[in-house]
Amino acid sequence: MRFSAAEAVRAAGIDEDRLMAAIAPVEPSRVPVWRAGRMMRTLWPRGITAMALPWGIYLAPAVLERPLADLGPLIVHELTHIAQWRRLGPVGWARSYLGDYLRSRRGGMQHHDAYRAIGLEVEARAAAEALRPGGPR
Ligand SMILES: [Zn+2]
Repeated sequence: MRFSAAEAVRAAGIDEDRLMAAIAPVEPSRVPVWRAGRMMRTLWPRGITAMALPWGIYLAPAVLERPLADLGPLIVHELTHIAQWRRLGPVGWARSYLGDYLRSRRGGMQHHDAYRAIGLEVEARAAAEALRPGGPR
């Protein structure tokens, strides 16, 4: 583990009470952040720099070189995905995620737009934005 999600959130000055309310029952202090290995990164779609799995968050090496305080919104985004896993279960999460993506693709959207339109991604981006230090942009 490089650090816990709570350390990044604290360094970024994110309101921890609001965060805890948004992602309950996930506890940031118990979510480890790891460096994503080469094998894992070969499986990532282009442009992806972070991934949440039920037990922790994986970041690309280039992301880990940034100051901890800069990682806050990204960590909140990934913590939101972990909260979604808890809420939906792995099968429910995958069904919702892939279902949204495939529906958009079948509807004619390009990959990037279909990815952005996934409901669970929209929710994670909104959570990161709402909790951005100093308020949403
Ligand atoms: Zn995401």
